[in-house]
Amino acid sequence: MITHNLGYPRIGAHRELKKANEAYWAGKINATELEQTARSIRLNNWYLQKDAGIDIIPCNDFSFYDHVLDTCLMTGAIPARYHELLVDKQLSQLDLQFAMARGYQKEGLDVTAMEMTKWFDTNYHYIVPEFAANQQFSLFSEKVITQYHEAKRAGFQAKPVLLGPVSFLLLGKEKEKGFHRLQLLGKLLPVYLEVLSKLNDLDAHYIQFDEPCLSLNLNKVEQDAITKAYTTFQQAFPHMHFILASYFECYGENLQTALNLPVQTLHLDLVRCPSQLDDILATDIKHKKLRLSLGVVDGRNIWKNDYDKSLALIQKAQQALGADRLLLAPSCSLLHVPCDLDLETDEASLPATIKSWMAFAKQKLDEVKTLADLSTDNPSVNALQDLKDNQAAMESRRTSPLIHRPAVTARAAAVTDTDARRATPFLQRKQAQQAVLRLPKFPTTTIGSFPQTPAVRSWRNKWKKGELTPAEYDALIKEETAASIRWQEEIGMDVLVHGEFERNDMVEYFGEQLEGFVFTRYGWVQSYGSRCVKPPVIFGDVSRKDAMTVYYTRYAQSLTNRPVKGMLTGPVTILQWSFVRNDQPRAATCLQIALAIRDEVSDLEAAGIKVIQIDEPALREGLPLRKENWEKYLYHAVRAFKVASSGVQDKTQIHTHMCYAEFNDIFESIAALDADVITIETSRSQNELLEGFASFQYPNDIGPGVYDIHSPRIPAEEEMVDLMEKAMTVIPADQLWVNPDCGLKTRDWPETKAAVAAMVAAAKTLRNKV
Ligand code: GLN
Ligand code: ZN
Repeated sequence: MITHNLGYPRIGAHRELKKANEAYWAGKINATELEQTARSIRLNNWYLQKDAGIDIIPCNDFSFYDHVLDTCLMTGAIPARYHELLVDKQLSQLDLQFAMARGYQKEGLDVTAMEMTKWFDTNYHYIVPEFAANQQFSLFSEKVITQYHEAKRAGFQAKPVLLGPVSFLLLGKEKEKGFHRLQLLGKLLPVYLEVLSKLNDLDAHYIQFDEPCLSLNLNKVEQDAITKAYTTFQQAFPHMHFILASYFECYGENLQTALNLPVQTLHLDLVRCPSQLDDILATDIKHKKLRLSLGVVDGRNIWKNDYDKSLALIQKAQQALGADRLLLAPSCSLLHVPCDLDLETDEASLPATIKSWMAFAKQKLDEVKTLADLSTDNPSVNALQDLKDNQAAMESRRTSPLIHRPAVTARAAAVTDTDARRATPFLQRKQAQQAVLRLPKFPTTTIGSFPQTPAVRSWRNKWKKGELTPAEYDALIKEETAASIRWQEEIGMDVLVHGEFERNDMVEYFGEQLEGFVFTRYGWVQSYGSRCVKPPVIFGDVSRKDAMTVYYTRYAQSLTNRPVKGMLTGPVTILQWSFVRNDQPRAATCLQIALAIRDEVSDLEAAGIKVIQIDEPALREGLPLRKENWEKYLYHAVRAFKVASSGVQDKTQIHTHMCYAEFNDIFESIAALDADVITIETSRSQNELLEGFASFQYPNDIGPGVYDIHSPRIPAEEEMVDLMEKAMTVIPADQLWVNPDCGLKTRDWPETKAAVAAMVAAAKTLRNKV
């Protein structure tokens, strides 16, 4: 069985690309030096994959920033605002792509960046292509050809990876009215044909086309576009071998389209959708020539493959089709997992037992190779030994007391509907809360964090390195907290926050204190451009040892008579931004986290905290790709939030906060959360969003963000009064709160103070008006 790989992490095991990109942007290295780093990452990756025994190695999976942006450059889909840069400034392709990704502010020019959004259901962000009505395409960047060539010179007969034309168009946006971007397909295909022709001239044989939009619910027009594209390619290059890859989901209703495409190989994500193998084998596939690429090794998670499970799938396919019609691969590009588990040598952060259950990109290649070996008639001695070791690792995971803690599972199993519901309806609670809080109309609050200044960060670093004693660190954090409380009182804020100065990150802070989590040292994954994240690993049953936030919240509350809002991260967001165990349903893990948060909520309440916010910014992004799976996800997500938030008395006010997304399609679920107050990001589509809430007759209180915290700009008081007056036309005034869009941790103090003071003044003006 031939093995192949869909893509390898491009950041480098030590984040070499991040460092080089940032050094280049800062003017510390030149383009040649940056290019050198990039080349050595590519070469390294190729050698590493070859050493692992992978037969078909990808090229063009490398990108300085993003592969969708690369496709814009390849097809000449460069928005008009950058043309001036190209012509007048004579920007190189390298600088042009950075200008498109990051904007260009130099020498009196101010060109905005292209938009960025999440790549399917991952935490990777791609640059959103922009299309004009009279959009022209022409081959502009020949990166795929040069990288193929580069691999060839280094002795690799690599497989170029291209984002397919239909997904490219669908992932983009029309920047003008009057056309649909899919109508551009006819103009776009010639560029792809030109690329294929050049690759063909260089003897490229395998070409991987990624069409991950096949994991979405496509309509007939979209399905037909896919058929048209690949029929065109196949007719022009009948001797090339096209591997069509979709991943992250089942093909669903697109399956027939996919199976009928004139391509040589169809890739299946058998991790996300193992059942589709049966569906496919039940068709007439036996009588066709189509090969299947079995994506059995999880490219989205850090767990070791379960060889017995994978071998069962492989054998089934092999019996039906024979080994020479099968390829073996990871489920998707390995872009979404960290590079190399071997770097994790610090037992204190990652215990050996837990490490023995894990595999990063490099280890996953070995798994693919070993599975191929084990699928032959005469598996090698090494492979057989690997199988034994793998079975032992799986067995240890199934039974380890590190993972399985019966008290946790028993508690989760005992959760009832009553636990997942506040005792009385909202309007009754609102009265009870108002009796305690006595808030004015248009109460003011913020979302939680205040500026994480370099000083605050340096204290944490020094404390972690032992350069500050815990007592010294504590005193500094308290001082910062006290200053923020004094300032909030001064400006007349109604519901105060402590400022989150003690927190590095809203998930990590909780993960570090919860049982069932571990943290890696080098487990970096690209989030966008040079930004990498190191997600916590949830390996086992989750529970709370001690109170996590009571100390600083209580301290802050002790300084003021006004209410200080306790600040927690919700279960769905903690789950969404971590690597999650795969030995039980995600919903089960989510419920365990919810119970831990519920305990924290109770402790805060017992400590005299009257308002508690549970942030769920990632609730929307956790939505499954296929609509038929939404209901189940939303049921569990809402239930987890309610379990976390419902253990309190009527008079305790629960807030939630959401941002980063359009919520129009999940209003019902947001209402079902039954939070007393939701503060929500609205700066991008204020009225649309509020009209949505209004048309749904959203019953509880809402704080539509009145200013965008992503920019240093200080909003004028009148502007915010205006916005609130608009909000009042759709939502009754006594349901409205006044707050910014999101937390302020990325801002500086001067702009924060000015903006928040103006916001509080705006609320006062509103009170005088009504
Ligand atoms: N409470 C968090 C903060 O203010 C919320 C962050 C978020 O919504 N992403 O930082
Ligand atoms: Zn937010």
